[in-house]
Amino acid sequence: MNILVTNDDGVKAPGLMALAEAMVPFGNVDILAPDHNWSISGHVKTLHRPLRVQSVILDNGMNALATDGAPSDCVALALLGLLKKPVDLVVVGINPSANLGHDVTYSGTVTAAMEAVIWGVCGVSFSLDGPEHTPGGLDYRGSKTAAKKVVGLLLENELPKNVFLNVNIPNIALEDIKGYKITRQGLRIYHDVLIERQDPRQRAYYWIGGDGPSGVIEEGTDIGELANGYVSITPLTLDLTSHQNISKIDQWSWSI
Ligand code: MN
Repeated sequence: MNILVTNDDGVKAPGLMALAEAMVPFGNVDILAPDHNWSISGHVKTLHRPLRVQSVILDNGMNALATDGAPSDCVALALLGLLKKPVDLVVVGINPSANLGHDVTYSGTVTAAMEAVIWGVCGVSFSLDGPEHTPGGLDYRGSKTAAKKVVGLLLENELPKNVFLNVNIPNIALEDIKGYKITRQGLRIYHDVLIERQDPRQRAYYWIGGDGPSGVIEEGTDIGELANGYVSITPLTLDLTSHQNISKIDQWSWSI
């Protein structure tokens, strides 16, 4: 069992170490992660410049590889032959904030798991629902237990081809986690505000600011069950087709 561990927060992120440690009981663990933070970078394929890879040692003593590529590049590099061995499972994270609803298309964490599916390999993304700032850092113990539970069941069962899992873990003590729920994507609400300022040469520049996203708390959704204290597991697929609208739009006057 060869497991690739990557993330979007960079090779020095504590969540990466936590996930790599959680995967050790399941097999051979290789770590290949970006050399800096790529959070909210979406699904990237770097084709216009070379990608460099260097060896690094993590704070917990584990060997890792770091690249100047994006999270999805890390997965592509590994699966296209950099690791010189077949990869059976790609796990991503543990991201220090949740990836819920529409976040999945922005997320470097989730899109790295997407990249695994493109190459026919099982992918799972893990995110902890942490606040923006936590003095002393986040406690990943509950997330490590959740990651072990998910991967253990993944190996006992079979995930259908083209499906990957987006796992979100509540930021509460392990004993307070109520359980595991298989969910659908909920509705994220973004509070983005366009901020216009002037640079020192009196040229306008723009910055997307505002508060972080909230969401509609609804039972059965990732947002709702996470808020209720459950680990949310959403099966996702890259097929974004709106199947229920094909026949409706097909009724427009398409004849030529
Ligand atoms: Mn991140």
